[in-house]
Formats: sequence, structure tokens, C-alpha cells
Amino acid sequence: MQTSTAATPKDAAAVILLKHNTRPDDPEVFLVKRSHKLAFLGGFHAFPGGQFDAVDTEVEVKNCDDAETCIAISCAARELFEETQILVARGGEALTQGQRLSLLDDLQTGRMSWPALLKHYELHLDANDFVFVGRWVTPPFSARRFDTWFFLVKCPAKQRAFISGDAELESGDWVSAKAAYDRWQRSEILAVPPVLHGLKTLAAGFRNDAEIDQELVARFLAGPNAHREPVRRIEFRPNYICFPVRTPTKPPATHTNCYLIYTSRELLVIDPGSPYEDEQEALAAAVAQLLAEGRKLSGILLTHIHPDHVGGVNALRARVGNANVLAHRLTAEALPDMAEARPSGRVAIESPQAKPSLTLGLLPHTVCLADEDTIELDGEPRIALRVMHTPGHARGHLCLYEARTGTLISGDNIVGLGSVLIDPPEGNMRDYLNSLARMRALPNLSVIFGGHGPAIANPYAKLDEYVAHRLDREQKILQAVRDGAATPKGIVTVVYTDVSPKAHAMAERAVLAHLEKLVEDGLVRETSDSLFLPNN
Ligand SMILES: [Zn+2]
Repeated sequence: MQTSTAATPKDAAAVILLKHNTRPDDPEVFLVKRSHKLAFLGGFHAFPGGQFDAVDTEVEVKNCDDAETCIAISCAARELFEETQILVARGGEALTQGQRLSLLDDLQTGRMSWPALLKHYELHLDANDFVFVGRWVTPPFSARRFDTWFFLVKCPAKQRAFISGDAELESGDWVSAKAAYDRWQRSEILAVPPVLHGLKTLAAGFRNDAEIDQELVARFLAGPNAHREPVRRIEFRPNYICFPVRTPTKPPATHTNCYLIYTSRELLVIDPGSPYEDEQEALAAAVAQLLAEGRKLSGILLTHIHPDHVGGVNALRARVGNANVLAHRLTAEALPDMAEARPSGRVAIESPQAKPSLTLGLLPHTVCLADEDTIELDGEPRIALRVMHTPGHARGHLCLYEARTGTLISGDNIVGLGSVLIDPPEGNMRDYLNSLARMRALPNLSVIFGGHGPAIANPYAKLDEYVAHRLDREQKILQAVRDGAATPKGIVTVVYTDVSPKAHAMAERAVLAHLEKLVEDGLVRETSDSLFLPNN
């Protein structure tokens, strides 16, 4: 299997904007919500910001002796202005709201570049207005990665932040950092680790509001990942840790998301997929830490049989004790062949019975799960995961749904990056579409945690997109057959024009899956010499 290397992070800057004269004991900050339509982190809450632009190198920043910092400050100021209409530039104090808007119009219509605009209106940026509070790098599990400079900035007096509701941002509001962090704790919003760190740090308050407090800055910088060391434990939602592990998976993915779902008393591990020893050790250390805090390991659940999801199951059991392995019967039966065969510890397949409701910890070794089983984790908060048998990508594929918070663990049925391969006979397109429909019918869905890539905060939009994409492909494939293409290879060349020739072998597998469904639907027939012809 070919593998790809992690994407190189792109430089970016973000602004943690403090309200003018905010209360030091309960500071307010400007939080934006990213549009549901965005492919990357759509629906997430964030701080304003964006990527470096070439023009940022041309902006002079006073009191800044480091060239790279100057660029980051220019980027932060520009993005803040573009996204929120807040202009943090010296010499601009006398500008009215209307004048600032006309400047913004000059910038956005391209009449004036950012450096030219600053010069023309005799404005300048000052590093003293942008307090550096850390650099965070997106972990390598994402195809889009950023090396983001965070700046704490006080909003100038008499400026009103405003979100135009454009393509990128849905809304923006002044919120108490404490209240926003509480909302995350109640599973009401999703944010990436640096944003959560910022909210949590501000929520503790600071000493004075005359100057940005040095002690506050120190707390920002004390974050273990505030200096470009990517986060390993990503807690998009409380009690659900996403722990991506490097795996030989399907490009563009380079990692498989292992999930650690915990309560005060129990821990459930999902898909320890890495066959690599360093990654297995890192995962085992994270598990051991959660256990050392007084939890018991309730089991290791496998969403499906693919090697990038089960590759580290024996290694984890060897390191943290013989935990139960939970899987669908079809996965469990195939497991001894697929799991890394080590002389010291093959996965035992025992008591393969499904029960209507399972309390973990009571059953030995391998537990077969069936559709509509419930996995209950004891402790605080009580977590009840509904097991859904959702074949399509793999026959024994499971998803897990928690109704209270609307959380769906989707395995490889929905992923945060790349596409889902339906490869017959393990893969089945009709089953897959039925599984997507079942997921789409879940009430109150607020997040999807996929087997690869970042969490999905716009679940229904994503599910609709997946279904529409498949049906669109199906129509094109049917049309290609009607136009005379009779083999998967021939169909790929006319339908998969958006896919590089390198990926054609895989595309042929997907076409075959579509053809099987079309044959079942009676729209296409297969001849004895494996040609696909239209049914009239
Ligand atoms: Zn898979």
C-alpha cells in the first residue's frame, strides 16, 4: 500500500481580541464561528485569523526587530481587519466607522493593497499592540496544516466588530471566555486545542486591564503545545480524546484516529491502528495516564477490519493488559488473520455472542457486538454508546452514537479528509448508501468523529454531501454504460476525469461497486464475459 507524508504547515496568524475595558475577572473575547460550508473545520468556533499573504512582507512594523514576527503581525492585523472590521493601527484613532469601512472596501476590492493603504492613510502597525502568546502547529492527521502565531490584542476604543457573514465566517460575538469555555464543557461548541487553551487561560482572569498582564502571557505560553510541538491528545469535545496514530493508510491520510472515550471511572479505546512501535508506545502512554487517574480499561473497540484500524490492537493489549476486544462478529472472525501476528499474543476469539445490552468489563476477551447493542460507561458523565452495524466500507463496520451530546463515531464511513473507498466484495455500495441514510436519520447529531482527519462539526451537511457525491457518480457511471463503456477501466477514463491516473486502479474498484448496485437495481446487466451493458 502506498503511503503519503504529512502536509507541511502553512504560516498563519490569529488574534485573540479582548474587548475594550473588559473586566479582568471575567474577560470578554471576540469569538467567530466558521461557516458550515467550509471543508476545513466548518462549524467550529475560532479566533479571527488566516494565512500569511505575500504583501505582509512589505509592511513595516514599529518596535519589532524580527522579520518573521513583523510578517506575522501584519498578517494578524490584516486578517482581523478583513474579518471583523477592527483596525489595530496607530494613527487611525481619529478615523470614523464610515472611513474604516471605506478603507476596508479599498482593500477588499483590490483598489489598494494592505501596505499601500497603511501608507496612504499614514497608519502604522506597532508590535506593542500585538502580544505574542504562542505558536501552535496543526497535528499531522490533517491534510491542511497551519503553523499559527497567536497574538493577544486589545480592541481599540469606539470600534465595533462586525462579521459580514461572508463565505468563511457565519457569525462573531463578544463572549465571556468563561462562558464560552463552559459551553465547550457542556458539549455545545467545538474548538481546536489552541482556541480552547486561549479560552481556558482567559477564563481564569487576569490582574489588571491597564496593560496586558505578564502573568497572563506566561500562562498562555505555559501550554505544553504553545511552542510548535503538535498536540497529541485532541479533545474536540469533553470525554472524547482523538489520538491520531501514524499508519500505512490510504493517501492523503497519513494517520488513523484512535479515540479514547472516558468517564471518571472507565475508558474505552477505539481503533488502535498503528503497526509502528513508537506510535504504539505513545498511545499506550496516553492510555496508561488515563488509567493511572483511577479508571479501568473497559475494552478496545474495532470499528472494522482494515489493517490501519486494527494494526496495534495486540500491542496495546500487551502493554496495558488483556482488555476485551469489542467488534462486530464479521470483524472478530477475520481478526486473527488481519491483526499483526505476534507469537506472544494473538487476539483470543471467545464468547462470540451478542447481547441486547452490554455492561463492559464483565465479558472475557472478545465480545461480539451487534446492531442496537448499547455500551455503557460508568462514572461521570455517564456515557451510553449505541452500536450501529453500518456495512458498506467493510461488512462488519460499526458506528457508535451517543444521543445525549449527538456524537457519532463514524469509523471509515465518514472521514475528515480524503474519500471513502468502497471496494467489493468487502465493500458494498447499496449497503453503504443505506448506512449513510441511517446516520443521516439520527436526531440531534452535532459532531462526527471520523476514522481519519479532523472532527466534522457540520454533520448533516457532510452526510448530504457524501450521498449527493455517490448518487452523482452513479448517474455518470450509468450514463457511461449507456454511451458504450462496458468495463470498469473504460468507465473510469470517462467518469473519473477529476482523479489522477495514479488513483485509477482504486477508482476501478469503486466503479465496480457502483456497477454491482446498478445490476441489482436492474439498470445494468453483466454478460458472461464480464462486460456491463445497459438494460433497456
Ligand atoms: Zn477502512
